Amino acid sequence: MIMDNGKNKPVGDIEEITKALLAFRDERDWEQFHTSKDLALGLSIEAGELNELFLWKQGQEAENPNLDRLGEELADVISYAFLLASKHGLDVKEIVLNKIASNARKYPVEKAKGNATKYFDLK
Ligand SMILES: [Mg+2]
Repeated sequence: MIMDNGKNKPVGDIEEITKALLAFRDERDWEQFHTSKDLALGLSIEAGELNELFLWKQGQEAENPNLDRLGEELADVISYAFLLASKHGLDVKEIVLNKIASNARKYPVEKAKGNATKYFDLK
């Protein structure tokens, strides 16, 4: 937690990350390239790079990826997600917590615990 907004109000990590991403972008005058479409494509492409870490691996090999590369690809995916959320004024904490609440309603513990069935097939 940092305190840098001049109001002695804690600034969350999500806001700190978003500010750093926007500063990096703006220093390079890259906002002109950050259309919604291209941010979404970038996220998807980086998700593909993440998947590549697991391609053709099985069992323990798949469960033990190179952590440096895993961290880099996760950072790429998260960065594009944060930039896209920021572009549309979406609060990352709010949308993720809302989605968890929505999923909790779809997957009640009493039906979903230890069960990987899709919500519409839960009994
Ligand atoms: Mg990457």
